[in-house]
Order: sequence, then structure tokens, then C-alpha cells
Amino acid sequence: MNTFLSVDNIQMIYQTPTEETEAVRNVSFAVEKGQFISLVGPSGCGKSTLLSAIAGLTKQQRGTITLEGTDVMQCRDKIGYMFQTDNLLPWRSIYKNVVLGLEIQKKLTKENLEYADTLLQRYDLWQFRDSYPNRLSGGMRQRVALIRTLALKPELLLLDEAFSALDYQTRVKVSGDVYEILRKENKTLVMVTHDIPEAVTMSDRVIVLSKRPAVVQKTVDIDFGGGMRNPAAVRTDPRFQLYFNHIWKELT
Ligand code: ADP
Ligand code: MG
Repeated sequence: MNTFLSVDNIQMIYQTPTEETEAVRNVSFAVEKGQFISLVGPSGCGKSTLLSAIAGLTKQQRGTITLEGTDVMQCRDKIGYMFQTDNLLPWRSIYKNVVLGLEIQKKLTKENLEYADTLLQRYDLWQFRDSYPNRLSGGMRQRVALIRTLALKPELLLLDEAFSALDYQTRVKVSGDVYEILRKENKTLVMVTHDIPEAVTMSDRVIVLSKRPAVVQKTVDIDFGGGMRNPAAVRTDPRFQLYFNHIWKELT
């Protein structure tokens, strides 16, 4: 296997003056370039903690995390991070929100601005570029947040419960959109979710974590046949229910 992201024997502990909380214990997995991985596990088990280490935002106490052989702390510019809230700035237009990251990182080059325009056009937000976030639905806002992240050309995308603030139908739609966009842009994805259907429909592999401290309890390869899939449509595939039941049993 050609490893892109390597997570090797990670341990993470929170120290407070009064206590020590071990959040992640001996977690290892490898991700190939272009693969989509979901991490599922009970609430509070350590998923966000692990993801922040993969993002190079928090340092693990033990173990190594590398992207193409280099410590993730040294390649944060190759990693994009998306959260539950879209964090769009209400006083900036959609366009100004999309280029915000480029502006902060002083990367407002002609080439980067053209890529931002392309993304807005390709993913149906071009006509809203002069609108303000409050004019857009929750699903569209989340797509804007994704495009703002993609404008920085990350190779690895990390999504932490990115759809959980949306109502059910919107999240099915948006998770499908995000799947399609990330596949088309050839990104690698590691996402955290507590929603089993979301994990099954969007991933090539689901890693089930135990309750805290998180250890890898089970790894489930997901295959609906073929390359690109339609995450909303595979919900009616008989294999979907089998994967769901399998992961559900592991979690309960
Ligand atoms: P998840 O994302 O799986 O819900 P988290 O990674 O956020 O879980 O948290 C894992 C455990 O670590 C929880 O018990 C949480 O209370 C604890 N924790 C998270 N952040 C901190 C922190 N900054 N200080 C101390 N404990 C924390
Ligand atoms: Mg979390």
C-alpha cells in the first residue's frame, strides 16, 4: 500500500491541575492518497482530539503522525480543517469569505484567485458571490465554507462533525455534495462523525473507535462497487443496511 497519511501508535492525554484524562490510546491507521476515511465512536471518546493531532494543531504525547513521510506539524499548509459551524463572517460577501484564508495567508495571487473563481463556478455559488451569508441556506453556507477551505489547495481534508448542525434532509444533500466535490478535486478525506449512515455512504473505510480512551475497535472496508458513488442513492443499496448493522453492533 502506498501510504499518504500515517497515524502510528498515538496516545493523547489532557492534563488539568486536578486530573489526567487519557483521550486516545495506541491508535494506528494508514490512509492512501485519495481515500476517504471515517472515524466513528461514542460521544466524548476522543475523536476530535485525534483529529486535531492529525491537523497538526495539538501534539500527541506518544506516537507519530506523518503526511508523505513528514511530521504533520511541518505540513499544516497541506491540510484543511472544517468544523460543525461554518464560521462565515456575516459582514463579508460570499466571495470575500471564500478568499479570506488566502488573504490571511497572504496568498492572493492571480492563480489562486482564479482557482477560487473556478470553484465558485463549478459548484454553483458564482451567482451568490456578492450575497451575504445570511441570504444563504445552511447547506449552501457549508458549501461556501468548503470552497473557502479548498481555495487554499489542501491535499488532506479533515471534517469534524461538519454536517451535524444541519437538518436531516440538508445533511444528506450536503454530505453528497461534499463527497462529489472532494472526489472531483482529488482530495484525501478523514472525517469524524457519530452518524453511521454518513460514515457508510461517504467512506472507503470506517474506523470504529471504542469509548474513551479511544482505541481502534474495528475497521470496516466499504465497497458499493465502482468508483464514484452517489451517497444519497447508496442508502437504498442492500449493502448499506449490512454495513450499518455491522457498525451499529460494534458501537453498542
Ligand atoms: P469526541 O470528539 O469524541 O466527542 P473529544 O475528543 O472532544 O471527544 O474529547 C475526548 C475526552 O477528552 C472527553 O472526555 C473530553 O471531556 C476530554 N477533553 C477534551 N478536550 C479537553 C481539554 N481541553 N481539557 C481536558 N479534557 C478535555
Ligand atoms: Mg468531537
